[in-house]
Amino acid sequence: MPIKLKSIKAEAEACRKAWKGLEVGTDSVHNHHEVLTEKLTSSATDRINYILTDKPLPEQALRLRLFRPVTRQAWAKYQKVTRQAWAKYQKVTGPAWAKYQKVTGPAWAKYQKVTGPALAEYQKVTGQARAEYQKVTGQARAEYQKVTRQAWAKYQKVTGPALAEYQKVTGPARAEYQKVTGPARAEYQKVTRQAHNIICKEKNCPWDGKTIFV
Ligand SMILES: [Zn+2]
Repeated sequence: MPIKLKSIKAEAEACRKAWKGLEVGTDSVHNHHEVLTEKLTSSATDRINYILTDKPLPEQALRLRLFRPVTRQAWAKYQKVTRQAWAKYQKVTGPAWAKYQKVTGPAWAKYQKVTGPALAEYQKVTGQARAEYQKVTGQARAEYQKVTRQAWAKYQKVTGPALAEYQKVTGPARAEYQKVTGPARAEYQKVTRQAHNIICKEKNCPWDGKTIFV
């Protein structure tokens, strides 16, 4: 069900009322449209006034409706739920990432063994050409470009197969990592989206995990 908003004036009034007597440092929900929760760094009154003066008119009522304080109790509960979900997610990604690195590590070392000297060679050749180019003008520009083009072609010829080899190893390893961690990530995102309801009391809040403007 879409959210039913009142006038900007009425929403501002309700927002002020909700924040009455609360200080800087209070946990808030939907202070900024892409951040679910944050501590107030200036007074709520300042923020409300800012919304009224600096935010586009069509956004104001929604912003004022959703910008609310979070009670300590709700905050603690929210943290507990999201921390548990994060720990659970990490339990899956940790070993998967270690495995990914174990598989791709040697391939990366091998790749670097080829590209390191090739890059040094490229820089040596183009560095000399560049120094020459800066010393003189005119004809030197064409010569400089020719030398760097050749050096780059040589670099690519040397490192191209090494990169292909490296990608041959990392491609499947990455796919495997994503396959293993994908469901865990989806679960983590699901839990954190639901945890939104712990700190946001707006029943029809449009927050989608990224923004309130959907
Ligand atoms: Zn919300």
